[in-house]
Parts: sequence; C-alpha cells; structure tokens
Amino acid sequence: MALHKDEAIVLFKRSYGESDKIIRLFTLSSGKIAAIAKGANKSQKRFANTLETFNRINVEYFEKYGRGMVRIENADIIETNSGIETSLKRACTAGFFVEFVDRLTKERERHDDLFNILAEVLQGIRGAEFTYDDILYYQLRMLEILGFMPNFHTCVYCGQAMAADKRIFFSKERGGILCHKCAPSLPHQVCAEGVIEGIVSVQQGNGSSAPGFQAACWCAEKGPVYLNNGFEKAAQDIMEGFMTFHLDVEFKSYRILKGLIA
Ligand SMILES: [Zn+2]
Repeated sequence: MALHKDEAIVLFKRSYGESDKIIRLFTLSSGKIAAIAKGANKSQKRFANTLETFNRINVEYFEKYGRGMVRIENADIIETNSGIETSLKRACTAGFFVEFVDRLTKERERHDDLFNILAEVLQGIRGAEFTYDDILYYQLRMLEILGFMPNFHTCVYCGQAMAADKRIFFSKERGGILCHKCAPSLPHQVCAEGVIEGIVSVQQGNGSSAPGFQAACWCAEKGPVYLNNGFEKAAQDIMEGFMTFHLDVEFKSYRILKGLIA
C-alpha cells in the first residue's frame, strides 16, 4: 500500500456505519477520488472538522487495492468552509459549483485548471455573496475548461461569424447560435436581443451590465432595451437548456439556487 500526499477539496461527505465517513475528494494530482475515513465519526480528534464539504485540505491517503476507494490517513486544513454557511444563497452557490465539478468529471482525471477555479470560487463565496453574473462567469469558465463551451460567436451550422446584435437564435441541440438563414431549418429558441451578447460580455469578464453592452442593446423599434432583470432569467434558461440536453445533468443545488436568485 502506497501512501499518497495531495491537496484536495471536499466535494461530498456522509456517515458510513457507526464510526466511518465516506468522502468524495477533488484532488489536485489525481482528480476525483472516493475515500473512506475510518473512525472519523468517532474520534473528534483525528479528523476534527477537516473533512467538511467545501474545505480545502492537505490529505494523506493509502491506495488500498488497485484503483478503488482510498483510505484517508491524515488530513489538515488549508482553508475551512467558514463564511460559506453564513447564508443559504452562499451555501447553495458553493453547492452548485461543487456539484458541477462532481457531476462533470470522471474519477481519477486530473484537472489542474478546474481545481484552481473551484478553489477560487469557494474562496470568493467565503468573502461575498455571488451575483448572477459571478455565477454565470464561473459556470462558463468551467464549461470551457471541460470542453463543453457553447458557441456564442459563429453560426454552429454554416460557420458564419455573426454581428453581436444579430445573435438571437440559440440551438441547445446544436450547442450554439444560428444565423437567420440556418435557423428556420434547425431546432432553436429565439432569445431577446442582447441576451447572447450579455452572456458573451459576462464570459469576457465585463458583466452583463457593462456600459458598452447597455449601449449596444438598442432595438430599432423600441429604442434602448435594458435587460438587467430579464437577463438573468433568459441567460439561465439558455444555460440550463444546454446543460440538460448535452450533459444530462440537472443540478439539485441549482434548482434551489435559481429560486433564491429569482
Ligand atoms: Zn448559418
């Protein structure tokens, strides 16, 4: 049995039997692994609060038989989840991102960038409540890292580059936007003008209400269209449709979180 040392984020934990805990860790070097912490429920001393969800820890574990569940030998805290439990919204936001990583990664697949982003997200939530822009920004970053990024820039069917204000047809089935020529023959939804543009603005780190973006939301018939409230709902709808269709995931935590944002 080899002893491994690694850094990890606790994705999930539950009691197992009378005295043990089953944990799912997202480790820096080995990706997601399932672990058992013997005696963690009994001895307060041994793992005193180190194996709580959202904690970032240094961990030592034994690989038992081949690539099955590992046994945690030691763990100590790098950063606790303190701050995350101060509001339901913070806890649900953290829960959403942890579930995101848990559901969209395979066991033992190393993802340095994803690990760093998750650590950054949890660090952020410890300090402040996320806005919807923050949530969308990190959701897009994670999708990009995992190679599941929808195409918001060119028509996914004919490849034509599209002007920002022409991006109104989104096909969750095709994984991106369609031009006005391709849209009639393919499944799609029509988005309010400015919604896709807002998502791109968030993706680029400018937020959905960046001055440039607001100015660009000019509708020929109606004049300026401000989407501050409508944007969240419309963007959520696009992201949710896409993720459910392609990744076959419906996040429990996301449903709760959505209720809190609305
Ligand atoms: Zn096209």
